[in-house]
Amino acid sequence: MNAVDYLRISLIDRCNFRCQYCMPEGAELDYILRQQLLTDAELLSLIEEVFIPVGFTRFRLTGGEPLLRPGVIEIVRAIAAFPQTQDLAMTTNGFLLAGMAQALYDAGLRRINISLDSLEPDTFDQIIGNRSRSRWQQVWQGIQSAYQVGFDPLKLNVVVIPGVNDHEVLDLAALTIDRQWHVRFIEFMPIGNSQLFGDRGWIASEELRQRIRDSFGLTESQVRGNGPADVFQIPGAKGTLGFISQMSECFCDRCNRMRLSADGWLRPCLLNEGHQIDLKTPLRAGADMAQLRKELRQLLAIKPEINFKQRESGITGAYSRTMSQIGG
Ligand code: SAM
Ligand code: SF4
Repeated sequence: MNAVDYLRISLIDRCNFRCQYCMPEGAELDYILRQQLLTDAELLSLIEEVFIPVGFTRFRLTGGEPLLRPGVIEIVRAIAAFPQTQDLAMTTNGFLLAGMAQALYDAGLRRINISLDSLEPDTFDQIIGNRSRSRWQQVWQGIQSAYQVGFDPLKLNVVVIPGVNDHEVLDLAALTIDRQWHVRFIEFMPIGNSQLFGDRGWIASEELRQRIRDSFGLTESQVRGNGPADVFQIPGAKGTLGFISQMSECFCDRCNRMRLSADGWLRPCLLNEGHQIDLKTPLRAGADMAQLRKELRQLLAIKPEINFKQRESGITGAYSRTMSQIGG
């Protein structure tokens, strides 16, 4: 069993995109009210006085769209400055990245994952629910800016939806041939849009690997991340390919993470809604940080039993929170 030392922090549940698989247009989402969001000071004191003392050293900022959070640069700077922080990363849709990449890097962010589900502007706009001027170019510019600024490794996340973007798997994989990028294919999960999931289903990573193997060849990479991705490489390519197979495989025994929502709920397992603890209410009521550390230690102790226990209910689309609300 891995040590659990990695916290994914949702900075905000709102987003400037409406990805079909995450927060589709027309879906009724209960946004977190501003006064319910953890303030910067509350978030930072939870990290410094609760998570770090219990052994967390690696943090990822996500959302919603984390670049929409006011003061995100200062939050990055503060987390990067904790001496115990060994790794600080972000997952973003990249739309605002071109103008912020340098400031994020200067503040101490070193790793970034950018979601890019398509190389075709029309398909991209269809996926992100955009009806006005295409947003693809601006996201691509954000990716280029991050690369130029020096984010390394630069990772692109692709959620593969059958009949929507699966015809692009080879083109997306080919991005890694000449670039030292890491393209990660994520199996579509029934979180966020269970109707789309019911209509389209999902494609197992092994099927994608077979398609790539047939066209380019594929070898297991020597580079092994410490996350859930299985890493492969097209022979001779500069970059790598990752496959996150939470639907077709169970990688709970490798799980090293918990998730903190923007309103202060700590979730021990992505696909199990049980055992979440509310950190904000006791924090605002003046609770002793030692008490919160005790609760966190108790949750860590039972985490191995929580993982995937309710996986079946997940597959029927029974989740109450979307990835944007959980902090994907
Ligand atoms: N807005 C940022 C972004 O899109 O990168 C960060 C938050 S988003 C919720 C984090 C990741 O979750 C993205 O890579 C997104 O593609 C993925 N995601 C969202 N809904 C998903 C679903 N139903 N199945 C699989 N991945 C999903
Ligand atoms: Fe927004 Fe990211 Fe969800 Fe797309 S996946 S709607 S960009 S939070």
